[in-house]
Amino acid sequence: MIYVFLGPPGAGKGTQARYFMKRHDKLAHVETGQLFRDAMKRGSDLGEQVRQYMEAGELVPDDIVMELVEKRLVGAALDDGFIFDGFPRTIEQGERFDTLLRQKHRPIDAVVYFAISDSAVVRRLDGRRVCTNCDRTYHRTYDPPTEDGVCDRCEGELVRRSDDSPEAVRKRLQEYHAKTEPLVSFYREKGSLKRVNAEQNIEPLRNDVRDALDL
Ligand code: AMP
Repeated sequence: MIYVFLGPPGAGKGTQARYFMKRHDKLAHVETGQLFRDAMKRGSDLGEQVRQYMEAGELVPDDIVMELVEKRLVGAALDDGFIFDGFPRTIEQGERFDTLLRQKHRPIDAVVYFAISDSAVVRRLDGRRVCTNCDRTYHRTYDPPTEDGVCDRCEGELVRRSDDSPEAVRKRLQEYHAKTEPLVSFYREKGSLKRVNAEQNIEPLRNDVRDALDL
């Protein structure tokens, strides 16, 4: 199965994707934002190429994103199933992704659109914390760690992502509305869009996502 999770930053796409991945061992999670953060951590050329965009809350150019996704899919057994989280993010990426999947004779099974207001996004991202060691995410109110500032899984330090600052979040939302939101109509016209109310808490949202994915 090929699934796309579409929606603004902070809508809960990553949290839901990780839940379904844990329960379906044949599903792989392709999170372009995380792949870029990993590249920056490693200090690779790709990491250096994308750093300025990520830190400013701007989208990375389409060619760089497509190269990353194509590499990720080389030799992959698509029958196993993928959740694409945070990709595609522009119409250009959506069209190029369609071409890529057509070559592999695999249509998208569902695009789950996480609908949420800007004000809820700002609240969520303000409280989001991420482990500097294992990258698990928490929320100070909705999904807190047992001990403040310490990761439950690996005892790493929890920090705010640099692009979760109020300034970068404003820019990311602008980018979302201008460049990513047009994909909602793009996929609606293709008949693959399933809208979920992402203002809900983690568990009710999970039930709606499960229905959308038909899992
Ligand atoms: P995320 O973790 O999904 O919020 O992504 C963090 C940042 O990575 C974004 O603000 C962009 O700078 C970059 N990024 C991730 N995925 C994409 C994409 N599909 N297209 C362009 N930029 C992306």
